Amino acid sequence: MSLVEDLVCAYRILAEHGVIDGYGHVSVRSDRDPQRYFLSRSLAPELVTEGDIMEYDLDSNPIDPRGREMYLERFIHGEIYKTRPEVNAVVHNHSPSVIPFGVTGVPMRPIFHMASFVGMGVPTFEIRGAQEGSDLLVRTPYLGQALAKTLGKNPAALMRGHGAVVVGESLTRAVGRSIYLETSARLQMQAMTIAGRDGKITYLDDREVQASAVMQDYKRAWNLWRTKALARIKAE
Ligand SMILES: [Zn+2]
Repeated sequence: MSLVEDLVCAYRILAEHGVIDGYGHVSVRSDRDPQRYFLSRSLAPELVTEGDIMEYDLDSNPIDPRGREMYLERFIHGEIYKTRPEVNAVVHNHSPSVIPFGVTGVPMRPIFHMASFVGMGVPTFEIRGAQEGSDLLVRTPYLGQALAKTLGKNPAALMRGHGAVVVGESLTRAVGRSIYLETSARLQMQAMTIAGRDGKITYLDDREVQASAVMQDYKRAWNLWRTKALARIKAE
């Protein structure tokens, strides 16, 4: 069991759950040097194997590029690792159900315990605040810094018209949060539809968020997801 193997599994798990498809990526901070992180070369997540994993410094320069194509949006990862020393994993996705929240200004709220971390705060990154007329991609260190600033100390941030970024102290937590953020957005939309305009929805309160979010590491689910991912890789 190695960190790189876990990272490969994370790509497969997020793809399996529809959180990332042909696009989106996940990184993990190096266990040998906190000033470095691992991220796949530019590739569809379901195709990622250990040989595709590249090492970067926190300015998102590759350590040993060997001509491999890099993700344009790698700066998301490096700039967040710089500002959040306790964060060891970052997911960037285009998780479909979160998009409506990012474009309407309707805040995501903690609706069920598996995604109680939503109650810790999920701000929205408006890229126009940093650059007008962009293609929405975080393709420069400057835009990465602006996104990291919006994320602040929160577990996730939505990216208007684009997707989301989700972080965790561990890969397990960042992956679990990404999967349940997608579910949470879907459930909130359903609850809002059922409740109707001005209808009452009971969300988790602050004390419930505190009691739940701090404990939730998604480890039991991770062990299941990881076993299935490794079986799929072996069968290829
Ligand atoms: Zn993107």
